[in-house]
Amino acid sequence: MFKAWKITKTDAEGYRCALVDVDEGELPEGDVTVQVEWSTVNYKDGLAFTGRSPVVRQFPMVPGIDLAGTVAASRHPRWRVGDRVILNGWGAGETWWGGMAQKACVRGDWLVALPPGLTTRQAMAIGTAGYTAMLCVQALQRHWAEAGVAAGSGEVLVTGAGGGVGSVAVALLAALGHAVVASTGRPQEADYLKALGAAEVIERQTLAAPGKPLQKERWIGVVDAVGSHTLANACASTRYGGAVTACGLAQGMDLPTTVAPFILRGVTLYGIDSVMAPLHRREAAWAQLDALLDRRRLDQMTREVPLAEAAALGSQILAGQVRGRVVVNVS
Ligand code: NDP
Repeated sequence: MFKAWKITKTDAEGYRCALVDVDEGELPEGDVTVQVEWSTVNYKDGLAFTGRSPVVRQFPMVPGIDLAGTVAASRHPRWRVGDRVILNGWGAGETWWGGMAQKACVRGDWLVALPPGLTTRQAMAIGTAGYTAMLCVQALQRHWAEAGVAAGSGEVLVTGAGGGVGSVAVALLAALGHAVVASTGRPQEADYLKALGAAEVIERQTLAAPGKPLQKERWIGVVDAVGSHTLANACASTRYGGAVTACGLAQGMDLPTTVAPFILRGVTLYGIDSVMAPLHRREAAWAQLDALLDRRRLDQMTREVPLAEAAALGSQILAGQVRGRVVVNVS
Protein backbone atom coordinates (compact mmCIF):
# COMPACT_ATOMS: atom_id res chain seq x y z
CA MET A 1 0.00 0.00 0.00
CA PHE A 2 1.10 3.58 -0.56
CA LYS A 3 -0.32 7.07 0.02
CA ALA A 4 -1.86 8.97 -2.88
CA TRP A 5 -4.26 11.79 -3.59
CA LYS A 6 -7.22 10.31 -5.46
CA ILE A 7 -9.87 12.22 -7.38
CA THR A 8 -13.25 10.59 -7.88
CA LYS A 9 -16.38 11.81 -9.61
CA THR A 10 -19.78 10.21 -9.09
CA ASP A 11 -23.38 11.32 -9.52
CA ALA A 12 -23.97 10.80 -5.80
CA GLU A 13 -20.92 12.60 -4.40
CA GLY A 14 -19.73 14.82 -7.27
CA TYR A 15 -16.03 15.74 -7.68
CA ARG A 16 -13.99 14.68 -4.66
CA CYS A 17 -10.31 14.61 -3.82
CA ALA A 18 -8.90 12.71 -0.83
CA LEU A 19 -5.58 11.44 0.49
CA VAL A 20 -6.00 7.65 0.66
CA ASP A 21 -4.08 4.38 0.89
CA VAL A 22 -3.81 2.71 -2.49
CA ASP A 23 -2.96 -0.89 -3.27
CA GLU A 24 -0.06 -1.25 -5.71
CA GLY A 25 -2.21 -3.56 -7.81
CA GLU A 26 -4.42 -0.56 -8.70
CA LEU A 27 -1.60 1.25 -10.54
CA PRO A 28 -2.02 1.62 -14.30
CA GLU A 29 -0.06 -0.79 -16.48
CA GLY A 30 3.10 1.03 -17.48
CA ASP A 31 6.50 -0.51 -18.06
CA VAL A 32 8.38 1.44 -15.36
CA THR A 33 7.45 1.68 -11.67
CA VAL A 34 8.84 4.76 -9.94
CA GLN A 35 9.29 5.28 -6.21
CA VAL A 36 8.22 8.91 -6.17
CA GLU A 37 10.25 11.22 -3.93
CA TRP A 38 9.03 14.68 -4.91
CA SER A 39 6.17 16.21 -6.84
CA THR A 40 5.06 19.80 -7.23
CA VAL A 41 1.99 22.03 -7.48
CA ASN A 42 1.60 23.68 -10.89
CA TYR A 43 -1.33 25.79 -12.06
CA LYS A 44 -2.80 22.74 -13.81
CA ASP A 45 -2.56 20.74 -10.59
CA GLY A 46 -4.63 23.51 -9.00
CA LEU A 47 -7.27 22.97 -11.68
CA ALA A 48 -7.22 19.22 -11.02
CA PHE A 49 -7.38 19.46 -7.21
CA THR A 50 -10.27 21.93 -7.29
CA GLY A 51 -12.08 20.57 -10.35
CA ARG A 52 -12.43 24.14 -11.58
CA SER A 53 -11.53 23.16 -15.13
CA PRO A 54 -11.93 19.68 -16.65
CA VAL A 55 -8.24 18.76 -16.84
CA VAL A 56 -8.92 15.35 -15.27
CA ARG A 57 -10.41 13.22 -18.00
CA GLN A 58 -10.61 9.79 -16.35
CA PHE A 59 -11.73 8.70 -12.89
CA PRO A 60 -10.49 7.70 -10.42
CA MET A 61 -7.36 9.77 -11.05
CA VAL A 62 -4.19 10.42 -9.08
CA PRO A 63 -3.37 14.08 -9.85
CA GLY A 64 0.14 15.47 -10.32
CA ILE A 65 1.52 16.38 -13.74
CA ASP A 66 5.11 16.05 -12.46
CA LEU A 67 7.13 13.56 -10.50
CA ALA A 68 10.76 12.76 -9.72
CA GLY A 69 12.08 9.64 -8.08
CA THR A 70 13.91 6.34 -8.47
CA VAL A 71 13.07 3.45 -10.76
CA ALA A 72 11.82 0.54 -8.63
CA ALA A 73 11.04 -1.88 -11.48
CA SER A 74 11.43 -1.70 -15.24
CA ARG A 75 10.54 -3.66 -18.34
CA HIS A 76 11.75 -0.76 -20.52
CA PRO A 77 15.11 -1.06 -22.32
CA ARG A 78 16.25 2.45 -21.36
CA TRP A 79 15.68 2.19 -17.59
CA ARG A 80 17.21 0.09 -14.82
CA VAL A 81 16.30 -0.24 -11.14
CA GLY A 82 17.94 2.64 -9.25
CA ASP A 83 17.90 5.15 -12.14
CA ARG A 84 16.81 8.66 -11.08
CA VAL A 85 14.07 9.96 -13.37
CA ILE A 86 11.75 12.90 -14.05
CA LEU A 87 8.27 12.84 -15.59
CA ASN A 88 6.59 16.00 -16.88
CA GLY A 89 3.21 15.92 -18.59
CA TRP A 90 2.32 13.31 -21.20
CA GLY A 91 -1.13 13.25 -19.59
CA ALA A 92 0.11 12.39 -16.07
CA GLY A 93 -2.56 13.56 -13.63
CA GLU A 94 -5.02 14.01 -16.50
CA THR A 95 -5.43 10.68 -18.31
CA TRP A 96 -2.81 8.61 -16.44
CA TRP A 97 -2.16 8.36 -12.70
CA GLY A 98 0.33 11.09 -11.82
CA GLY A 99 2.83 12.25 -9.23
CA MET A 100 0.78 13.01 -6.10
CA ALA A 101 1.49 9.51 -4.83
CA GLN A 102 4.36 7.56 -3.34
CA LYS A 103 4.37 5.19 -6.35
CA ALA A 104 3.70 5.62 -10.03
CA CYS A 105 3.68 3.20 -12.93
CA VAL A 106 4.31 4.98 -16.22
CA ARG A 107 5.59 4.50 -19.75
CA GLY A 108 9.38 4.48 -19.90
CA ASP A 109 9.24 6.48 -23.14
CA TRP A 110 7.94 9.45 -21.13
CA LEU A 111 10.83 9.60 -18.66
CA VAL A 112 13.85 11.90 -18.73
CA ALA A 113 17.01 11.00 -16.82
CA LEU A 114 17.68 13.29 -13.86
CA PRO A 115 20.48 15.64 -15.00
CA PRO A 116 23.73 14.94 -13.12
CA GLY A 117 23.80 18.30 -11.31
CA LEU A 118 20.24 18.21 -9.97
CA THR A 119 18.63 16.41 -7.04
CA THR A 120 15.11 15.02 -7.41
CA ARG A 121 13.94 17.82 -5.10
CA GLN A 122 15.53 20.49 -7.29
CA ALA A 123 14.00 18.87 -10.37
CA MET A 124 10.56 19.26 -8.84
CA ALA A 125 11.33 22.78 -7.60
CA ILE A 126 11.74 23.42 -11.33
CA GLY A 127 8.85 21.13 -12.36
CA THR A 128 6.68 21.62 -15.42
CA ALA A 129 6.54 25.37 -14.73
CA GLY A 130 10.32 25.75 -14.85
CA TYR A 131 10.81 23.32 -17.71
CA THR A 132 8.18 25.29 -19.68
CA ALA A 133 10.01 28.53 -18.88
CA MET A 134 13.14 26.89 -20.31
CA LEU A 135 11.25 25.82 -23.46
CA CYS A 136 10.16 29.47 -23.88
CA VAL A 137 13.68 30.78 -23.37
CA GLN A 138 15.12 28.23 -25.80
CA ALA A 139 12.56 29.25 -28.45
CA LEU A 140 13.69 32.86 -27.93
CA GLN A 141 17.35 31.83 -28.09
CA ARG A 142 16.81 30.06 -31.43
CA HIS A 143 14.98 33.11 -32.73
CA TRP A 144 17.64 35.55 -31.55
CA ALA A 145 20.45 33.36 -32.95
CA GLU A 146 18.80 33.43 -36.36
CA ALA A 147 18.05 37.16 -36.16
CA GLY A 148 21.53 38.04 -34.88
CA VAL A 149 20.20 39.57 -31.64
CA ALA A 150 22.73 39.59 -28.79
CA ALA A 151 21.95 39.36 -25.06
CA GLY A 152 21.85 42.82 -23.55
CA SER A 153 20.77 44.51 -26.78
CA GLY A 154 17.25 45.12 -25.49
CA GLU A 155 14.73 44.35 -22.79
CA VAL A 156 12.90 41.03 -22.37
CA LEU A 157 9.43 41.00 -20.80
CA VAL A 158 8.23 38.24 -18.45
CA THR A 159 4.54 38.30 -17.50
CA GLY A 160 3.04 36.55 -14.48
CA ALA A 161 6.54 36.99 -13.11
CA GLY A 162 5.66 36.17 -9.50
CA GLY A 163 4.32 32.74 -10.48
CA GLY A 164 6.17 29.52 -11.25
CA VAL A 165 6.82 29.88 -14.99
CA GLY A 166 7.54 33.59 -14.54
CA SER A 167 9.98 33.25 -11.63
CA VAL A 168 12.08 30.62 -13.41
CA ALA A 169 11.98 32.60 -16.68
CA VAL A 170 13.26 35.72 -14.89
CA ALA A 171 16.15 33.77 -13.35
CA LEU A 172 17.07 32.04 -16.64
CA LEU A 173 16.96 35.16 -18.80
CA ALA A 174 18.97 37.13 -16.24
CA ALA A 175 21.56 34.33 -16.15
CA LEU A 176 21.86 34.65 -19.94
CA GLY A 177 22.67 38.35 -19.52
CA HIS A 178 19.34 39.85 -20.56
CA ALA A 179 17.73 42.95 -19.08
CA VAL A 180 14.55 41.39 -17.72
CA VAL A 181 11.40 43.43 -17.09
CA ALA A 182 9.11 41.51 -14.74
CA SER A 183 5.38 42.21 -14.89
CA THR A 184 3.48 41.37 -11.71
CA GLY A 185 0.21 42.08 -9.95
CA ARG A 186 2.11 41.85 -6.67
CA PRO A 187 4.31 44.94 -6.47
CA GLN A 188 5.16 43.90 -2.90
CA GLU A 189 7.21 41.13 -4.50
CA ALA A 190 9.49 43.58 -6.35
CA ASP A 191 12.48 42.77 -4.10
CA TYR A 192 11.92 39.05 -4.65
CA LEU A 193 11.85 39.52 -8.45
CA LYS A 194 14.95 41.72 -8.38
CA ALA A 195 16.74 39.07 -6.29
CA LEU A 196 15.92 36.58 -9.05
CA GLY A 197 17.56 38.92 -11.56
CA ALA A 198 14.86 41.31 -12.81
CA ALA A 199 16.27 44.70 -13.85
CA GLU A 200 12.86 46.37 -13.54
CA VAL A 201 9.47 45.43 -12.12
CA ILE A 202 6.27 46.79 -13.68
CA GLU A 203 2.66 46.69 -12.50
CA ARG A 204 0.68 44.13 -14.51
CA GLN A 205 -2.35 46.40 -14.86
CA THR A 206 -0.52 48.39 -17.56
CA LEU A 207 -0.55 45.25 -19.75
CA ALA A 208 -3.80 43.63 -18.62
CA ALA A 209 -6.24 46.23 -20.00
CA PRO A 210 -7.26 46.51 -23.69
CA GLY A 211 -4.58 48.43 -25.63
CA LYS A 212 -3.78 49.77 -29.09
CA PRO A 213 -2.85 47.33 -31.90
CA LEU A 214 0.61 48.90 -32.19
CA GLN A 215 2.41 50.47 -29.24
CA LYS A 216 5.86 51.86 -28.53
CA GLU A 217 8.44 49.21 -29.49
CA ARG A 218 10.14 47.90 -26.37
CA TRP A 219 10.80 44.12 -26.09
CA ILE A 220 13.26 42.01 -28.05
CA GLY A 221 11.46 39.00 -26.60
CA VAL A 222 8.63 38.02 -24.28
CA VAL A 223 7.79 35.05 -22.06
CA ASP A 224 4.04 35.23 -21.48
CA ALA A 225 2.30 32.99 -18.93
CA VAL A 226 -0.87 35.08 -18.87
CA GLY A 227 -2.60 35.25 -22.32
CA SER A 228 -5.58 37.51 -23.09
CA HIS A 229 -5.01 41.32 -23.25
CA THR A 230 -1.59 40.90 -21.64
CA LEU A 231 -0.37 38.78 -24.54
CA ALA A 232 -2.00 41.12 -27.07
CA ASN A 233 -0.27 44.13 -25.51
CA ALA A 234 3.03 42.25 -25.33
CA CYS A 235 2.83 41.55 -29.09
CA ALA A 236 1.87 45.18 -29.77
CA SER A 237 4.93 46.47 -27.90
CA THR A 238 7.50 43.99 -29.23
CA ARG A 239 10.29 45.48 -31.28
CA TYR A 240 10.67 44.98 -35.03
CA GLY A 241 11.67 41.34 -35.69
CA GLY A 242 11.25 40.32 -32.05
CA ALA A 243 9.62 37.19 -30.68
CA VAL A 244 6.88 36.40 -28.18
CA THR A 245 6.44 32.99 -26.53
CA ALA A 246 2.93 32.15 -25.35
CA CYS A 247 2.61 29.36 -22.80
CA GLY A 248 -0.12 30.29 -20.34
CA LEU A 249 -3.60 31.61 -19.73
CA ALA A 250 -3.64 32.92 -16.15
CA GLN A 251 -5.55 36.03 -17.31
CA GLY A 252 -7.60 34.25 -19.98
CA MET A 253 -7.67 31.94 -22.97
CA ASP A 254 -8.65 34.72 -25.38
CA LEU A 255 -6.18 36.64 -27.54
CA PRO A 256 -7.78 39.94 -28.57
CA THR A 257 -5.05 41.10 -30.95
CA THR A 258 -4.73 42.25 -34.56
CA VAL A 259 -2.35 41.15 -37.29
CA ALA A 260 -0.56 44.53 -37.11
CA PRO A 261 2.49 43.46 -35.00
CA PHE A 262 3.01 40.43 -37.24
CA ILE A 263 2.64 42.03 -40.68
CA LEU A 264 4.05 45.49 -39.92
CA ARG A 265 6.86 44.62 -37.49
CA GLY A 266 7.62 41.01 -38.40
CA VAL A 267 6.95 39.90 -34.84
CA THR A 268 6.89 36.11 -34.36
CA LEU A 269 4.52 34.44 -31.92
CA TYR A 270 5.72 31.03 -30.71
CA GLY A 271 3.28 28.62 -29.05
CA ILE A 272 4.93 26.61 -26.29
CA ASP A 273 3.57 23.26 -25.15
CA SER A 274 5.29 21.22 -22.48
CA VAL A 275 2.89 18.28 -22.24
CA MET A 276 3.53 16.56 -25.58
CA ALA A 277 6.93 18.12 -26.35
CA PRO A 278 9.24 15.57 -28.02
CA LEU A 279 12.00 13.89 -26.01
CA HIS A 280 14.89 15.76 -27.65
CA ARG A 281 13.36 19.12 -26.65
CA ARG A 282 12.81 17.89 -23.07
CA GLU A 283 16.35 16.62 -22.75
CA ALA A 284 17.77 19.86 -24.16
CA ALA A 285 15.63 21.89 -21.74
CA TRP A 286 16.66 19.85 -18.70
CA ALA A 287 20.33 19.95 -19.71
CA GLN A 288 20.26 23.75 -19.97
CA LEU A 289 18.32 24.09 -16.71
CA ASP A 290 21.07 22.05 -15.03
CA ALA A 291 23.78 24.22 -16.57
CA LEU A 292 22.16 27.64 -16.22
CA LEU A 293 19.80 27.86 -13.27
CA ASP A 294 21.39 29.36 -10.17
CA ARG A 295 20.56 26.98 -7.31
CA ARG A 296 20.41 29.82 -4.77
CA ARG A 297 17.79 31.55 -6.89
CA LEU A 298 15.92 28.26 -7.22
CA ASP A 299 15.92 27.93 -3.43
CA GLN A 300 14.70 31.54 -3.07
CA MET A 301 11.64 30.81 -5.19
CA THR A 302 10.78 27.42 -3.64
CA ARG A 303 8.75 26.40 -0.64
CA GLU A 304 8.13 22.84 0.53
CA VAL A 305 4.91 21.16 1.67
CA PRO A 306 4.19 17.56 2.73
CA LEU A 307 1.97 15.41 0.50
CA ALA A 308 -0.96 15.91 2.89
CA GLU A 309 -0.93 19.70 2.27
CA ALA A 310 -0.64 19.61 -1.52
CA ALA A 311 -4.38 19.89 -2.26
CA ALA A 312 -4.71 23.04 -0.15
CA LEU A 313 -2.25 24.75 -2.47
CA GLY A 314 -4.60 24.07 -5.40
CA SER A 315 -7.02 26.93 -4.79
CA GLN A 316 -4.17 29.22 -3.68
CA ILE A 317 -2.30 28.82 -6.96
CA LEU A 318 -5.46 29.48 -8.99
CA ALA A 319 -6.00 32.67 -6.97
CA GLY A 320 -2.47 33.82 -7.91
CA GLN A 321 -1.42 33.62 -4.26
CA VAL A 322 1.50 31.23 -4.65
CA ARG A 323 4.85 32.91 -5.12
CA GLY A 324 7.34 31.03 -7.26
CA ARG A 325 7.34 27.26 -6.88
CA VAL A 326 6.05 24.66 -4.43
CA VAL A 327 7.71 21.25 -4.01
CA VAL A 328 5.72 18.40 -2.51
CA ASN A 329 7.57 15.98 -0.23
CA VAL A 330 5.94 12.72 -1.19
CA SER A 331 7.99 10.23 0.81
P1 NDP B 1 1.25 30.39 -11.34
O1 NDP B 1 -0.11 30.52 -10.75
O2 NDP B 1 2.38 30.02 -10.47
O3 NDP B 1 1.63 31.73 -12.10
C1 NDP B 1 0.70 32.48 -12.84
C2 NDP B 1 0.93 33.95 -12.54
O4 NDP B 1 0.14 34.72 -13.45
C3 NDP B 1 0.47 34.37 -11.15
O5 NDP B 1 1.41 34.12 -10.16
C4 NDP B 1 0.27 35.85 -11.38
O6 NDP B 1 1.55 36.48 -11.34
C5 NDP B 1 -0.24 35.93 -12.82
N1 NDP B 1 -1.70 36.05 -12.86
C6 NDP B 1 -2.61 35.30 -12.17
N2 NDP B 1 -3.86 35.71 -12.45
C7 NDP B 1 -3.74 36.74 -13.34
C8 NDP B 1 -4.67 37.58 -14.00
N3 NDP B 1 -5.98 37.45 -13.82
N4 NDP B 1 -4.19 38.52 -14.84
C9 NDP B 1 -2.87 38.67 -15.04
N5 NDP B 1 -1.93 37.89 -14.44
C10 NDP B 1 -2.36 36.94 -13.60
O7 NDP B 1 1.11 29.32 -12.52
P2 NDP B 1 2.27 28.61 -13.36
O8 NDP B 1 3.43 29.49 -13.42
O9 NDP B 1 2.39 27.20 -12.93
O10 NDP B 1 1.57 28.59 -14.80
C11 NDP B 1 1.37 29.82 -15.48
C12 NDP B 1 0.51 29.61 -16.70
O11 NDP B 1 1.21 28.81 -17.64
C13 NDP B 1 -0.80 28.87 -16.42
O12 NDP B 1 -1.83 29.41 -17.23
C14 NDP B 1 -0.50 27.45 -16.83
O13 NDP B 1 -1.65 26.75 -17.19
C15 NDP B 1 0.42 27.68 -17.99
N6 NDP B 1 1.33 26.58 -18.26
C16 NDP B 1 1.39 26.10 -19.53
C17 NDP B 1 2.25 25.11 -19.87
C18 NDP B 1 2.35 24.68 -21.27
O14 NDP B 1 2.78 23.57 -21.53
N7 NDP B 1 1.99 25.53 -22.22
C19 NDP B 1 3.07 24.46 -18.85
C20 NDP B 1 3.04 25.11 -17.55
C21 NDP B 1 2.16 26.12 -17.27
P3 NDP B 1 1.78 37.93 -10.68
O15 NDP B 1 1.13 37.85 -9.33
O16 NDP B 1 3.24 38.09 -10.64
O17 NDP B 1 1.08 38.91 -11.59
